[in-house]
Amino acid sequence: MHALTRNTLYLVIGRLPGTQRSPLSLSCFIVPRYWIEADGSLSPNHVACAEVEAKMGLNGCPNTRLVFGDEAGPARGWLLGNQPNVALLQLRGLMSRARIETGIQATAVASSAYLHAVRYARERVQGAPFDKSANPWAPKVPIIQHRDVQRMLLDMKSRVEGCRLLLARISTHAALQQASLHAARAGEDQAAAEAALHERMMALYCPVAKAHVSEEAWHVVTQAVQVHGAVGYLRNRPLEQYLRDLKVLTIWEGTNYIQAQDLLRDKLGFGHDSLALRAFEAAIGRTLHDGAGYPELAHEFDAVRAARAALQDALAELGQHARSGRLLLVSQFCTRFLTMFGHVLLAWGLLEAACVAVRRLRELPEEDGDRSFYAGKVSSLRYYARNVLPAVESGAALIRRAQDCYIEASPLEFGHIGSH
Ligand SMILES: Cc1cc2nc3c(=O)[nH]c(=O)nc-3n(C[C@H](O)[C@H](O)[C@H](O)COP(=O)(O)OP(=O)(O)OC[C@H]3O[C@@H](n4cnc5c(N)ncnc54)[C@H](O)[C@@H]3O)c2cc1C
Repeated sequence: MHALTRNTLYLVIGRLPGTQRSPLSLSCFIVPRYWIEADGSLSPNHVACAEVEAKMGLNGCPNTRLVFGDEAGPARGWLLGNQPNVALLQLRGLMSRARIETGIQATAVASSAYLHAVRYARERVQGAPFDKSANPWAPKVPIIQHRDVQRMLLDMKSRVEGCRLLLARISTHAALQQASLHAARAGEDQAAAEAALHERMMALYCPVAKAHVSEEAWHVVTQAVQVHGAVGYLRNRPLEQYLRDLKVLTIWEGTNYIQAQDLLRDKLGFGHDSLALRAFEAAIGRTLHDGAGYPELAHEFDAVRAARAALQDALAELGQHARSGRLLLVSQFCTRFLTMFGHVLLAWGLLEAACVAVRRLRELPEEDGDRSFYAGKVSSLRYYARNVLPAVESGAALIRRAQDCYIEASPLEFGHIGSH
């Protein structure tokens, strides 16, 4: 709420009198800060700012707690589209975009943190190499030469690139969907079906773009702090702000658990005859089919194949539990399943990028300055396939033993703690 504009329109979700307390009875209202009278003049509409929230981060963007209606009168509004009880449908497109934008924001912050870490690691001189550390006169080297720092940097690089590739895949589907809709309007056969396919794929990847990417970004920024040592903990570096700003991305637009539920139950139907799943399987299958052309990446192709098979097994297992009515059991694996799916999607993107890089490396002369860029793409895949992707198989092993890992605790088991 501010005085920069003459009036403000708020999109407010609420219930019409007499409707039930169910998400299916939510309506969307347009409520102006000032009511527009018949003669065009503005009068108060009883909308007040009760509080500006004191947040952990995003301090450049005030969040307010608004109160609609006061003793002087109720706030008035219009029913959006004049349609009651359809707020969730009306907001679906907006929410999907906001979730993908959350992934874009997360990737941008993580990428910046990674670049800060690389620059610092090149400048900071500390410690001799591990194999010379017994020699007190061994010269100290920039920390970027230490294998453990390289591990952290490669970890960050591969995750940032994987997230960016996932978002690029979604953007490609969005562009192709628009083109197909255009072609459908021009009467082209099959175009409407193509548009529906691209929409389905965007819907399938959307919860991963929101939840997995925001978790990966959080992980990347904490690694960037670690690379900086004590300097990373200082407020004169941007990393502290990045962490504070980033955390909300795992919470807003529906918490990451809500995304995981959406993925497993709503988008994949617990694996039961899902069209989106079939399209995903076909697309990743096409990439894996090309493996023979890249002997340099044989190990990585195998790793992605194994992770994809583990993901299929895990989904089949969870589907079995869901169909047998063991939904509470399934609910404790939603988040873990989304993480597994996220790892496979990121690895798939990195694999495709590495194939392009290998083709360029075959063509470029040894002294070409671009070689290190393409070699870096192969390194990202190698690291991710060998160090991160095995988590998919261990996740699937856990899901195979789902009934042994059952989580069931009485609220009292967490200790007797006074209220706030
Ligand atoms: C900076 C900021 C800006 C925001 N801007 C907007 C905005 O513009 N518009 C808007 O509408 N909202 C906005 N929000 C609200 C935001 O979308 C919600 O805070 C978010 O969706 C989480 O809801 P909640 O806070 O009620 O958490 P809760 O629902 O109370 O969740 C608390 C914890 O319980 C878990 N949980 C909740 N339900 C279940 C369940 N059924 N099963 C298992 N676990 C569960 C959650 O995953 C979470 O870990 C904003 C929030 C912040 C922090």
